[in-house]
Amino acid sequence: MRNSHQRDAILAYLQSKRAHVSATEVYDAVREQIPNISLGTVYRNLGQLVELGKIITVETQDKFVYYDGYTKPHTHFVCRGCKQIFDFEYKTTPPSEITGEGFEIESERTVYYGLCRNCTEDALEGK
Ligand SMILES: [Zn+2]
Ligand SMILES: [Zn+2]
Repeated sequence: MRNSHQRDAILAYLQSKRAHVSATEVYDAVREQIPNISLGTVYRNLGQLVELGKIITVETQDKFVYYDGYTKPHTHFVCRGCKQIFDFEYKTTPPSEITGEGFEIESERTVYYGLCRNCTEDALEGK
């Protein structure tokens, strides 16, 4: 069961990180344990983990995808200044237009884009 071993290693890495990491970062980290793993295999396993609901993705405005092993409902803020991704334990309430109309919500993802506090201050100071 080589495949599930690789997938477990990738999942364990993401769950230990509590951060948002790119596929190449995952690749570099997992390669220390599984030296012959390929980047393609990492991408394939990441895709499977997303499908299984074990990890989630966050997309930046310039379409970079980051992987998050923290799957409890939370909201992301992506800063366009420093490119950091922030987690907020904030749940949006689905609008009654959806819930009242017999639609079954299975997942929800909100991403806010803008400038974080540090970058806003830098902008104000004209740095
Ligand atoms: Zn920032
Ligand atoms: Zn997150």
